[in-house]
Amino acid sequence: MEKIIILKYGELSTKKENINYFIKTLKNNISKLLEDINNQIYYDFGRMYIYVNEKDIEFTINRLKNVFGILEIIVGYKSNDLNIENIKANVLSLVKEKDFRTFKVKTKRSNKKYPINSMEVNNIIGGYLLKNISDIKVDVHNPELLIEIEIRNNEVLFYFNGIKGLGGYPVGTLGKGMLMLSGGIDSPVAGYLAIKRGVKLEAIYFESPPHTSEFAKDKVIRLCRVLAKYNASIKLHIINFTEIQETILKNISHEYLITIMRRMMYRISAIIAHNNKCNILVNGESIGQVASQTLTSMKVINEVVKMPVIRPVACFDKLEIIDIAKKIGTYEISTLPYEDCCTIFVPLHPVINPNSVKAQEYEKLIPYEELIYKAIKSHKVLNITLKEDNKYQDLL
Ligand code: ATP
Ligand code: MG
Repeated sequence: MEKIIILKYGELSTKKENINYFIKTLKNNISKLLEDINNQIYYDFGRMYIYVNEKDIEFTINRLKNVFGILEIIVGYKSNDLNIENIKANVLSLVKEKDFRTFKVKTKRSNKKYPINSMEVNNIIGGYLLKNISDIKVDVHNPELLIEIEIRNNEVLFYFNGIKGLGGYPVGTLGKGMLMLSGGIDSPVAGYLAIKRGVKLEAIYFESPPHTSEFAKDKVIRLCRVLAKYNASIKLHIINFTEIQETILKNISHEYLITIMRRMMYRISAIIAHNNKCNILVNGESIGQVASQTLTSMKVINEVVKMPVIRPVACFDKLEIIDIAKKIGTYEISTLPYEDCCTIFVPLHPVINPNSVKAQEYEKLIPYEELIYKAIKSHKVLNITLKEDNKYQDLL
């Protein structure tokens, strides 16, 4: 018998009209992830079947654990012998090694020409196991070992309980979004949660050299690399925000610094998102976390863009966010001690209930459209892939 990896789909199986598109996208995502090893992938509406060399099975499973759209990852066995006597012998040889007291056999017969129907196969195999292994019994409701048999046209598959997949939707099935990624804890988690819902992400990072260091940027690149595990690769847009920030600092009342600074970030993010065919902005704002994240602040900041802004962690407590950050491997990077462009210019008393008319008045004091144009024109793009072959490219 040959080993084979079988995938059960996650939530996508509820998307009736789009199911083909969802499964094809999942297949393409997996093909890309496995392009460095020999593989063949087949699928139907119920399952995906991945053939790789036996030596690559563990590597493949580890990669599949990071793929959204998979409910369960199962290592199964394939035989080309459809004879019922040999099916019996094969099942026995596979389950003999296993430690279980209750079991259930569940057969799927996609080969309708096969002369024995699924129920009969269940009974034949179940009876055979009861006769040949002592101290086991059938439990159809809650078996310790579920033995699944799939009789296809030219092959029989055998498989057992699998490993839990990540769930969610295949990345890309819901289009693209632009993640506002700082070096903090919240935004990478927000990104992960958006990817989980099938959104393919690009990221945007605002830096303010020399006030922010290369280390701060490196941190963001490392965070992208973690996110790239789930997103296949990430295009990171790096915006030089120094001139905008210094101009704001010089000309605008301190209590409105953060409000105006964030309105600038939103405007630039929305333009870069639009230019890169992203439909939404994603960020790590969480209600009430800081002055710029009160509901009034969010409203005044949000009103400068038309694009929807999705805030996956808006209603999470910080501890809940930290839990996810630890689970996905961003927490240790996020807590490295490098400054972010917001933390440098934090005023002592930021306004908690900003007013949009006032914000607009302040903005009239600076040539912000020109500054935004300049920042966008000189922005840099870094393509961060799993293979880490990063290269700077000028976009324009
Ligand atoms: P994080 O929220 O990621 O932990 P933070 O708490 O330092 O970082 P906030 O000041 O709370 O960031 O900003 C709220 C959100 O705005 C961030 O989650 C992020 O989405 C976005 N943001 C803040 N600073 C930057 C930046 N330098 N570049 C890109 N996005 C940023
Ligand atoms: Mg935050």
